[in-house]
Amino acid sequence: MSGRFGVPPVIVSMIGSRRQDLGLGKTAGGGSGGSFASHSREAGAPPAPVLITPNFSRLLDTDPESWFATPWSQRKEVIEQATIEIIRCTPEARHPPFGTALTFGRWMQSNTSLAWNKQVTCRVDPSLNENLIELSAPQLRTKEPRTIADTILHEVAHGIDDKHSGHSKGWREKFRTLLNRHGMSDVEVRMNHQSTAAELAAPVHVMRRYRGTCPNDQSHTSYRDGMPRTRSYICTRGDCRSKPQSQRLITYDRNPDFNG
Ligand SMILES: [Zn+2]
Ligand SMILES: [Zn+2]
Repeated sequence: MSGRFGVPPVIVSMIGSRRQDLGLGKTAGGGSGGSFASHSREAGAPPAPVLITPNFSRLLDTDPESWFATPWSQRKEVIEQATIEIIRCTPEARHPPFGTALTFGRWMQSNTSLAWNKQVTCRVDPSLNENLIELSAPQLRTKEPRTIADTILHEVAHGIDDKHSGHSKGWREKFRTLLNRHGMSDVEVRMNHQSTAAELAAPVHVMRRYRGTCPNDQSHTSYRDGMPRTRSYICTRGDCRSKPQSQRLITYDRNPDFNG
């Protein structure tokens, strides 16, 4: 897997160019606590916002195997905090062309998009306009950390771009700026996400709450998110097809490997 992860870990993301000042080492490794710190400079020095993004750095740092071995509740917290960190240290997010500052919105259930930028205009009261990043839990749950980092910057680029410009040249330039700023210069500017090899190989069995077992053959396991309403599911795998149905009635129980 290391091929895709050849970028040195970026511990500190910052605006400006005083990277050498930050003797931060690994202490900014962060965690799921969602801390966000700004590093203020000594009095009298010109203001240079130095922003630490421990959760976003963790997305860049973590290999897919250990990422997927982490309970989803913890991964979700890292993703949410990483999004908030990036928005906070993006000056363009305070005064985007849309006119309303970009903020983190909420987690959503979508089976098609990983995340999106929602810009809503309230005709009655413009102070109610919204410019939000929303994240899809079912989609991001199976994505590797660098894909998620890429997704966050993709959506922030929409949030600081014109509402209707889509994946225009303007958006591509903003996305490129964010990629460079946050240590992802190696990443191509793409409009769509395609599953990586690591995602295709993601251990689905640790992501499903229930496990079905076939009485005829222990290797015929299957996984589901919800307990079936009726338990009369019949195994149709391997030579089970030729057995009487009563001998291949699948039993569902809690998946002992579930890590969510
Ligand atoms: Zn897009
Ligand atoms: Zn079977």
